[in-house]
Amino acid sequence: MNTQFRIGLGYDVHRLAEGETLVLGGVTVAEDIGTVAHSDGDVLLHAICDALLGAAALGDIGEHFPDTDPAYRGVSSLELLRHCVMLLDERGFGVVNIDATLILEKPKILPFKREMRSRIAEAASLDIDGVSLKATTAERMGFVGRGEGVEAHAAALIARKD
Ligand code: MG
Repeated sequence: MNTQFRIGLGYDVHRLAEGETLVLGGVTVAEDIGTVAHSDGDVLLHAICDALLGAAALGDIGEHFPDTDPAYRGVSSLELLRHCVMLLDERGFGVVNIDATLILEKPKILPFKREMRSRIAEAASLDIDGVSLKATTAERMGFVGRGEGVEAHAAALIARKD
């Protein structure tokens, strides 16, 4: 079926450790505790990349950017996001909007939200109102609640460009 609109979902989780940097949505939000990862560990952007790839049935982020590939060591996930948007563009799709939720105990995300939305929008060729971001805690329940990790969920809508 040659559909005009397609939807995708994304999810990611990363472990937190002391002495690492926490980068979310392309913004450094903490420098005393951060994600343990091969890239910059930006769970929010990874969930968004998977939502975009999912919308176009292009697999997942692990297939496109294997963590065994030294090329992606320490890479900014904004670069990965730009690459995913380019893959969609090559197939005739543009991003309509992105909606995401971050789940973590700390730090408070509100002061960083606008900058995150702005960076995501820039990388995805969207206006800032094309990017929605929410954040919640896990109310001290489970691994997120104990501060052991950060979780992110994302949905993306893409449309065939005329
Ligand atoms: Mg990841």
